[in-house]
Amino acid sequence: MKLILLGAPGAGKGTVAKMLTAIDGSVQISTGDILRGAVAAGTDLGKEAEGYMKRGDLVPDSLIMGIMEKRLQDNDCKKGFLLDGFPRTIPQAEALTELLKKLGITLDMAVSIDVPRDVILDRLCTRRTCANGDCQAIYNVKSNPPKKEGICDKCGSPVVQREDETETAISHRLETYNEKTAPLIGFYAKTGLLKTVTGTSSDAVVAAIKSSLGI
Ligand code: AMP
Repeated sequence: MKLILLGAPGAGKGTVAKMLTAIDGSVQISTGDILRGAVAAGTDLGKEAEGYMKRGDLVPDSLIMGIMEKRLQDNDCKKGFLLDGFPRTIPQAEALTELLKKLGITLDMAVSIDVPRDVILDRLCTRRTCANGDCQAIYNVKSNPPKKEGICDKCGSPVVQREDETETAISHRLETYNEKTAPLIGFYAKTGLLKTVTGTSSDAVVAAIKSSLGI
């Protein structure tokens, strides 16, 4: 499947993407994970992106398009891909349309995951992430804590609160979402690709996506 997952930070895009990869081997492409990996590795990309990310601002479109142009041509994308956190601005969506045309790729759907704001705020404040840039497993102190407090079940690295998941950064990220990313819902509605799923359970969101795709 070739899907875009739209939704505010904390809407569950990453969890839904991971569940969908198990269905047909499509790969999850999270620009946030790629950027955090680059920051942890101290690469030039990481150094450039770090300040924007800490503040909860978007990284410039040109950097993101450079990443995505390469990533979408990797062999593992042939089976399909789930775009998680990209596109995030109208210029990114326009550039993606051009890029996909150039690569001869057709999208199946743009799924907008719509979750109430209070649920999102609660999730973001209680989310914890594995600090290992190659793992980045996600936990939640209330609903899905690691077996040993503060230690990742998968790789044994520390599980931490992301620097952009303090209350100030979260409210800034939500404002950025409303201003820059929410207009993508209208953009994809016009193309006929939009499917809106309302729900707080990732299982229900995955079921709705499967039914829309007829699988
Ligand atoms: P995420 O993990 O998707 O919440 O992304 C974390 C941070 O990475 C965002 O707050 C942005 O600073 C940056 N980021 C991720 N994806 C994008 C994108 N498509 N465009 C611009 N910045 C991005």
